[in-house]
Amino acid sequence: LSVNQYLRDHIRTVPDWPAPGVQFRDITPLLQDAKVFRVLIDAFVHRYMDPSMRPDVVAGLDARGFILGAVVAYELNIGFVPIRKKGKLPFTTVEETYELEYGSATVELHTDAVKAGDRVLLIDDLIATGGTMMAGKKLLERLGAHVMEGAAIVDLPELGGSARLKESGLALFTLLDFA
Ligand code: 5GP
Repeated sequence: LSVNQYLRDHIRTVPDWPAPGVQFRDITPLLQDAKVFRVLIDAFVHRYMDPSMRPDVVAGLDARGFILGAVVAYELNIGFVPIRKKGKLPFTTVEETYELEYGSATVELHTDAVKAGDRVLLIDDLIATGGTMMAGKKLLERLGAHVMEGAAIVDLPELGGSARLKESGLALFTLLDFA
């Protein structure tokens, strides 16, 4: 059994959530089993432990990106910074608004979260339209950081997000695709 298949077997698909017609890919079964959680985290840690791939800092996207990103950063012995939905961060922030299917969303980052020239690994659980990860990339770049790669457990390639992110010059590392 490959690592990818093992992880795939621990993603739960919930039909019609949060809205009719949506097939939500629920990653919580990957977290709740100690063995699966370790295989999951190690898949990322292994890649970024390599000296040529080592980031200076991990940035996690609200909210499931915090779970993954914080543990990966801890294992790499580097720092973690959160990119949060608007209104949650107490210090001065930069913010970025992006379009959703219905309406828009705004994410924020503390202005001292990264330094100019930092090599940042940007992590979330899943890439759909890519809007969330693109907004995170823009925030980090506005502070002068270099986003060396975007990483996620799941890519939904049919929504075109990963293609758009790659076109913008962002390297991507994902473990699984779902049609
Ligand atoms: P995007 O901005 O790429 O359209 O959507 C990705 C964001 O929405 C991520 O932060 C992700 O957590 C959340 N998301 C959208 N669809 C799903 C899904 O099916 N499963 C999970 N786990 N997250 C999703």
